[in-house]
Amino acid sequence: MYTVIGAGLIGLATAALLQQRGHEVRVIDPDPASQASHFAAGMLAPTAEMQFEQDPLYPLMFASADEYPEFLALIGAEDALIASGTLVVAGDRADLGHLHDVFDLQQRYGAEAEKLTPSQARKLEPALSPGIAGAVAIPADHQINPRVLMARLLQQVQVERRKAQPGDLGPQTIVCAGLGAAELFDLPLRPVYGDILRLNMPRTKGAEPLLHRVVRGFVLDRPVYLVPRGDELVLGATSREDREPLPLAGGVLDLLRDAARVLPDIQLLSIKEVAAGARPGTPDDVPLFGRDPKTSSVISTGYFRHGILLAALAARLGADQLTGVEPSEQDQAFIQAMNPERFL
Ligand SMILES: Cc1cc2nc3c(=O)[nH]c(=O)nc-3n(C[C@H](O)[C@H](O)[C@H](O)COP(=O)(O)OP(=O)(O)OC[C@H]3O[C@@H](n4cnc5c(N)ncnc54)[C@H](O)[C@@H]3O)c2cc1C
Repeated sequence: MYTVIGAGLIGLATAALLQQRGHEVRVIDPDPASQASHFAAGMLAPTAEMQFEQDPLYPLMFASADEYPEFLALIGAEDALIASGTLVVAGDRADLGHLHDVFDLQQRYGAEAEKLTPSQARKLEPALSPGIAGAVAIPADHQINPRVLMARLLQQVQVERRKAQPGDLGPQTIVCAGLGAAELFDLPLRPVYGDILRLNMPRTKGAEPLLHRVVRGFVLDRPVYLVPRGDELVLGATSREDREPLPLAGGVLDLLRDAARVLPDIQLLSIKEVAAGARPGTPDDVPLFGRDPKTSSVISTGYFRHGILLAALAARLGADQLTGVEPSEQDQAFIQAMNPERFL
């Protein structure tokens, strides 16, 4: 019997994969699917999420994106993938300079991306503002709905609703407790809050939706994203380390203003949720994955901004590590990059 501590997407995905391989699993969480994964937008965006000086992260992000379809198939959720593609737009000429710098970085890593003029971008997404300065199309960055996927996984696995204790740790245990892992181990995790909104995007029968694909923007040097799915449009997200767990008025104001600059008709949509979630951040933005030397438990946390994307890779590596599957050379490199002992 294996124990998974934490029922966010990382823990649920790991537990489901262990079960799918025929193992008995119990999951422990006082409040399943309630933390970072609940608030996340759900973008699977290894290319659009590339930021300068995060080189150790890129291989993890691309590997997980590649593994996603197979991972979803293994847990019986292949229909959860929303293959919408992504468009990144620039609010003004300075933002376009930044967009093109990131495009050069994407090119260096062989990522699929194409520069578009404003009118080419508006052909794909007619609701975009005529004022945008340019765009980059990223056809392979997709999305899932984390809440829907977690609800499905919660139907597959049994959760004991309680907080894990040190007595639950051991070689058969994997700790996927997000920020809560810092209560069990001495790990350098910190909450990086993100304000995020969910808007109603009603569709009259036969009419085109306001947006078809994920639109990310650089506006006045700030990032903003719009994730359309069904009758919902997710608008996010700020990034702040002020330890204020409630959504911040200034953050929501920036998001709405920046979003309206690239998609003016967003002002016509009603708001169904304003929230803030805490990303489990690490000092170098790279996750923490590996055996704890004291308890021999596997630690799997610190997925920061990319935990939805990295869930496929994390679940497979976690299930492999617990059950003693010999890592391939590539997996060894991933595990080495994420070794928590770099901070212990
Ligand atoms: C606003 C926002 C937007 C985001 N958008 C994206 C995105 O588009 N794409 C992407 O890839 N990532 C995104 N992220 C990041 C992503 O949400 C996280 O990296 C990911 O959800 C982490 O998953 P997790 O399962 O490790 O942690 P969590 O989802 O935080 O789950 C941890 C679980 O552990 C439980 N727990 C804690 N302590 C204990 C304990 N002692 N005992 C038992 N259980 C415990 C908690 O109750 C919780 O259920 C976003 C994050 C935020 C906040």
